[in-house]
Amino acid sequence: MDLTRRSFLKLAGATTAAATLTGVGLNKASASPSEPLRIKYTKEIHTVCTFCGVGCGVICNVRDGIIVNTEGDPDHPMNEGTLCPKGVSHYNLSYVYDTKGNPVPNPNRLTKPLIRRPGASDWEELEWDEALEIAARRYKETRDDHFIQQENGVTVNRTDAISWLGSAFCNNEENYLFKKIIHSTGLVNFDHCARL
Ligand code: SF4
Repeated sequence: MDLTRRSFLKLAGATTAAATLTGVGLNKASASPSEPLRIKYTKEIHTVCTFCGVGCGVICNVRDGIIVNTEGDPDHPMNEGTLCPKGVSHYNLSYVYDTKGNPVPNPNRLTKPLIRRPGASDWEELEWDEALEIAARRYKETRDDHFIQQENGVTVNRTDAISWLGSAFCNNEENYLFKKIIHSTGLVNFDHCARL
């Protein structure tokens, strides 16, 4: 083949264009109609990454109660559509892979509150209403039993008997409400991995 400078540049340009189209999925092989979009017939839910204090926005595509796809939220000011490797793995909260590499529902995913009652060795599943009622009652009882109004002649109105740990899964608005509950009930021990 007689390769001139001009024909070399044309060949290089055509090769680069083909590689680019393949990379973005426009080549003939990847456009197979037998591979439907993973997000087809899904409900799009916007949430916050569960893993660290950065609080990146995530879009979850959910079908029949199971997350089938996760992506960074392009409208979220924290990450503008990007996710780190941990955030990208949200998909695996719902799915794990079997020995043949096929996705199957994650058997370790907790979907209900658990309680280990006094003296029991096993965990028991609860309905959400019952779990919230138990948590609220114990919160109130503990606060009332250990509330300190005065210390060294100074009004303090606090309790040291409860501590509150926030969650990276909570957004700004939820953390604002948590702070209201914490201060209005006299807690002084609280923290959050993002220090919100
Ligand atoms: S995507 Fe990564 S950086 Fe963002 S909140 Fe999740 S773990 Fe943190």
